[in-house]
This record gives sequence, structure tokens and C-alpha cells, in this order.
Amino acid sequence: PPQKRYLIGGNWKANGTLAQTAGIVKILNQGGAIPLEAEVVIAPPAHLLGYVKDNLRPDVAVSAQNSALTTKPGAFTGELPAVLLKDFGLNWVIVGHSERREGFGGPGETDDVVATKTKVAVDAGLHVMACVGEKLEQREAGKTTEVVLSQLNAIASKLAREDWSKVVIAYEPVWAIGTGKVATPEQAQEVHESIRAFVKEKVGAQQAALLRIIYGGSVKGSSAPGLILKPDIDGFLVGGASLTSDFVTIIRAVK
Ligand code: PEP
Repeated sequence: PPQKRYLIGGNWKANGTLAQTAGIVKILNQGGAIPLEAEVVIAPPAHLLGYVKDNLRPDVAVSAQNSALTTKPGAFTGELPAVLLKDFGLNWVIVGHSERREGFGGPGETDDVVATKTKVAVDAGLHVMACVGEKLEQREAGKTTEVVLSQLNAIASKLAREDWSKVVIAYEPVWAIGTGKVATPEQAQEVHESIRAFVKEKVGAQQAALLRIIYGGSVKGSSAPGLILKPDIDGFLVGGASLTSDFVTIIRAVK
């Protein structure tokens, strides 16, 4: 396979009855060959990680949707330490999804929490999809680059240069997540380009060139082909469509 494969992540969020899960696993297992150019990672909710790992085709990886700040197992009720995910045989986690940053009525995760979780997960041996993205009012105020780069800067500040081989940045404009309003290829490319330029400047040219920057926000089989043509779009993080057979169409779009 080429040196840098596209990454297609499927984020099921808090969805998945046992019956629905069996159905999606079947769709993926019977979905035909995965293009050599693509690496596919599915993130089911925590209670389904074992089931999906045991039942999903082995060429699709399984990811957690979040992991804990703690570096060690212990008295952290309800938390998922990255070291335990790794021990369980998982190699991926999503960190800093906008829904977690928002907080579900609670305080939510700050840039600093997201950055620390990223570092803790990388140190545990996991690959991380670290999410960044602006809200609608921030975009309308012309602050998209500022917001995204300050989220990215928090993450970059905690990582050593060698950690970047384990990190994928998911650009997910909040106004596009779950809304059906996908960013245009030009809108996404503009932000992806500034993310790569930032990493080149702050970390190094090689890390920037190898970094996978994936787009998330209402990606569908119909919008994926246009987005993937852009030079700095290295794959997708897919929410809603990852619960349907449209996800297979998205995977095929990277060929
Ligand atoms: C997501 O949850 O990361 C996401 C991009 O969701 P959706 O594809 O449904 O917008």
C-alpha cells in the first residue's frame, strides 16, 4: 500500500442496540474488499467494543470514542483508561469530539483536557483521532482559523515530535456535524491546509507531510468523492452515515 493511507473512521456515537449492531457489522463484513488505499476504523459505544472486535472483519479496526485523563487503571468509576483499551487489544481512540467538548449539560472538555487525553492515549500506545472544529458563530465572525489552530496548538504543546506518527487530526466544523450541511471541498481544504502548515511550522516538515487530516461533518457517499479530491483531505470521520450501508460507499470513494 502507499505510504500514507486514507483513514475512514465511523463514529457510531451513543447508538447501537444489539440488533442494530449485528446489522451494521454484517453490512461491513459483507461489504466487499476495502481499497488498499484505505484504513477503516469503527468507533462503537463502549459497551459494544468487545462484541464489535470479536465479530467485525479483521481488516477493520475498532476504536473507543473517548478515553480517560488518568494514565493508570484504578478508582475512576465510569472512565476508560487508555492503557486498558490497549491491553484489551484496541489500537484507536477518538478524543475531543465536539459533543464531548460541549459537555451534555455539564462542564465539557476544555482544549487542555483534550490535549492531555491525546498525550495519555498516545503514551498508552493508541492511535488517536483528535477532533478540532469551529462553531457556526465563530465561522461567521471570521474566527475559524484562529479557533481551530488554538485547539490544535493545545494538543501540539503536549506532544513530542515522535508522537505525531500516532495522531490523526479530524477537522469537524460543529455546524456540519449531524446537520446535513457538509462543508464544501473548498471550505474543508482551506482549514486542512492551515492545519498542515501549522504542524509543519511547529513540529516539522516530515510530520506535517505524513499527518492525516480527516474531515468530518455530514459526509455521505454522495459528498465524499468531491471532498477526497482535495490535496489536504486524507479521509473522513463519519457519524450518521456510518450506521448505514452508505459507509461502504464512502470507503469506496477513496480509491
Ligand atoms: C461525527 O460525529 O464525528 C460526525 C461527523 O457526525 P455526522 O457525520 O453525522 O455529521
